[in-house]
Amino acid sequence: MRIAVVPGDGIGKEVIPATLPALTLLNEALGLGLSYEVFDWGADRWLGTGVGLPPGALDELARDYGAVFLGALGDPRIPDMAHGRDILLGLRRGLDLYVNHRPIELKHGVIDLYRENTQGLYAGVGGSVGRHGAATVAIDECVYTRETVEKFVRSCLTRLRAAGRRKVTLVHKSNAVPHTGRLWQQVFRHEAEAFPELEASEEYVDSFCYHLVRDPKPYEGVLAPNLFGDIISDIGAALMGGLGLASSASICPETGFALCEPVHGSAPDIAGKGTANPYAASMSLALLLDHAGHEDAGRLLRTCTADVARGEAATPDLGGTGTTRQFMAEVTALIERRLTTAGAAPRP
Ligand code: ATP
Repeated sequence: MRIAVVPGDGIGKEVIPATLPALTLLNEALGLGLSYEVFDWGADRWLGTGVGLPPGALDELARDYGAVFLGALGDPRIPDMAHGRDILLGLRRGLDLYVNHRPIELKHGVIDLYRENTQGLYAGVGGSVGRHGAATVAIDECVYTRETVEKFVRSCLTRLRAAGRRKVTLVHKSNAVPHTGRLWQQVFRHEAEAFPELEASEEYVDSFCYHLVRDPKPYEGVLAPNLFGDIISDIGAALMGGLGLASSASICPETGFALCEPVHGSAPDIAGKGTANPYAASMSLALLLDHAGHEDAGRLLRTCTADVARGEAATPDLGGTGTTRQFMAEVTALIERRLTTAGAAPRP
């Protein structure tokens, strides 16, 4: 499988390259058959040439690649994030990456949060009227098709069952946002009937956020429409200990294409200092390896990253003294030691 690596902007250009030696080591030692190519999509190219997602890129990705490994998009010189929308929303919509998996790693275990990634309030339907650029009326429509909700819910339930999860919660707001809310409830109840192994429940998003912060232990799998999922994933990152820790994978179950990226943005305040935490990027790479069918490699990268995060080589946001590169160099060295112990030394 070929991987398109897009470091993007800000700390994306630091955390993504730092993880690549670990990818190369795993690929060579375990014979994964992966290759990657680096693309310069991001703010500099946008400002220089006006190009975000280059023409033909979606076709090329769909034809020749199985995944995108993305850093972050965002730049103070482009305050409206026009390039980020062009590239990221272009990839999500163009490749139909409607399942967004955002694991929330907590002390008691992992909550598998799944966010619908292409419709809802992010469908881009709406408009505004006003004078001289000042809107007097502004409308954003929340749009969901039954087809998308059905395939999203079915795919998430299938993945949760395969992962051995026993509980799933639908997050909605059908009392105040009744039309799309009820569509989600109807579809969820119907689809859940085919998954008796999963105990299904529903919760209003406000109550869910309250309970998640108070006591996350009862939750195992969580399904959320686009906006709610976006907000919950930041709460999840806070519960985990910071934005530098949260990983994600956006998937099209039909084609198998995946876009894996840390949840954090370009963090202009710390960009260029070499101290950005590469944990989320490394865990996103682990999700990519899982997704490519290399779960053993994903597990090894995940456990080594988590072990290094507890030590002195961790970045300052985790209480360590390491730089981005030192953190990942430790991870790569630890992978190498564990592979050698397990008798799978890197091939010459
Ligand atoms: P963007 O405009 O690209 O969304 P942002 O600064 O608004 O950037 P984030 O990049 O998500 O949003 O960062 C929010 C804050 O979290 C930053 O100020 C930064 O200090 C911290 N942060 C985010 N990612 C990391 C990381 N990987 N390591 C350390 N701190 C981080």
